[in-house]
Amino acid sequence: MKVTIIGCSGSFPGPDSPASCYLVEAEGFRLLLDFGSGALGVLQRHIGLYDVDAVCLSHLHADHCLDLCGYHVARTYGPGAPYPRVPVHAPADAPRRLAAAYGMPDEPGLETAFDFAGLAPGTIEVGPFTLTSAHVNHPVEAYGFRVEHAGRSVVYSGDTGECAELVKLAADADLLLCEASLLDKPDLPTGLHLSGRQAAEHGAKAGVGRLVLTHLVPWHSQGAVLDDATRGGFTGPIELARSGAVYDLG
Ligand SMILES: [Zn+2]
Ligand SMILES: [Zn+2]
Repeated sequence: MKVTIIGCSGSFPGPDSPASCYLVEAEGFRLLLDFGSGALGVLQRHIGLYDVDAVCLSHLHADHCLDLCGYHVARTYGPGAPYPRVPVHAPADAPRRLAAAYGMPDEPGLETAFDFAGLAPGTIEVGPFTLTSAHVNHPVEAYGFRVEHAGRSVVYSGDTGECAELVKLAADADLLLCEASLLDKPDLPTGLHLSGRQAAEHGAKAGVGRLVLTHLVPWHSQGAVLDDATRGGFTGPIELARSGAVYDLG
């Protein structure tokens, strides 16, 4: 299983990265976790425009889903179109919300390009992957994902405040992509985002092998986020996410 960070910028694209998007590949199958603003462009540096086999959307904030609108154009009107519909696992309101973002009526919405399926906590098979979804702690319906293949696992937090469900989801994972949107300080808001310290605490409690801090907001010093994470009690490797970084989990 190979994980490529397409976008790791928090809340909006930054100068060096699109918003959230992670490419997970195994057995020639290409799964996207989130498809945030700007991701469709950088994605084409790594795979062909029509090579996406499935998409999972953690939640419906724009920085996690909006490039599905542009991708609808590519798959509906590009040379050789129409292309096969791509399964999209997303919160139940995704078809309506994304049709509105695009400026389409609800019917057919984006259904010509995508086959939407509602998410719920639990485990499903997506291509060669076992995908487990869990509710996380964010003001809208939001999920974290655990993707497993051939005994290896990657967990993506989505957007979340402190969350016992995330610790459970990430138990013993090889790689945790954990959001670290906030600079650490006393009295952080609850139910919104994590600081680097809190991300490291979640990684330590879950016993993950490697922690990658992501959803990095451009207005923060990234060095300060990493510095916060060193105070979270995680003893394994910690690094900042970077667009283009590849993790080969074997
Ligand atoms: Zn976000
Ligand atoms: Zn969000």
